[in-house]
Amino acid sequence: MKPDDVLKKLESCGAVLRNTHVALQGRRHGDAYVDFKKVFLDVMLASEFGEALAMACADFMPDAVVGPPMGADRLAYEVGLNLAVYQNRLVMSPYAEKIGGPEKFEFRPEFLAAFAGKKFLIVEDVKKTGDSADALAAIVTRHGGIICGKAAVVDRRPSVGGFRSLLQLELPDWPEDECKLCGVIELNRTVGQWKDYDARHPRQGGQP
Ligand SMILES: [Zn+2]
Repeated sequence: MKPDDVLKKLESCGAVLRNTHVALQGRRHGDAYVDFKKVFLDVMLASEFGEALAMACADFMPDAVVGPPMGADRLAYEVGLNLAVYQNRLVMSPYAEKIGGPEKFEFRPEFLAAFAGKKFLIVEDVKKTGDSADALAAIVTRHGGIICGKAAVVDRRPSVGGFRSLLQLELPDWPEDECKLCGVIELNRTVGQWKDYDARHPRQGGQP
């Protein structure tokens, strides 16, 4: 799948939001966002992205494909399924769960028992900082797994993380305390880190 096709498919399902005002990770704001949740409203589309990412990562020959919950783990399953079919071999898709605390995620013990010596591909749907993938990779490595590659459908910041991606889409963002949209355009409270923003900025009279 060519980058232009990826963008067209994302736009056609309404996943690409522009001219908006979004709170992002790391206390940053932006005016655009890729809402990959929209892709899962069409399982065939989700499957197409899973197949395309599998083909882009086939040379990694992973024994397992994992992604941060929720969302990217479902993509990881699709990638793993396609690699298993096309390469006619066993591929695992252990899934992690979100937990509180610095580690962010955990795998159940029955999954961890199968990690030693296995090659893991980490996938994200939309990658920005790569922090979630790194957190997952650290757990995999600690339990004897080997990270053979990282990949994302959309890479919002290709300069960090060494990800392979189907589409590089650099969308500008800036520190929230320098945001010119705050107080002008209401924050989009359907996507991004708006709950975290609201917790730190109790709303007065509906602003910003
Ligand atoms: Zn703002």
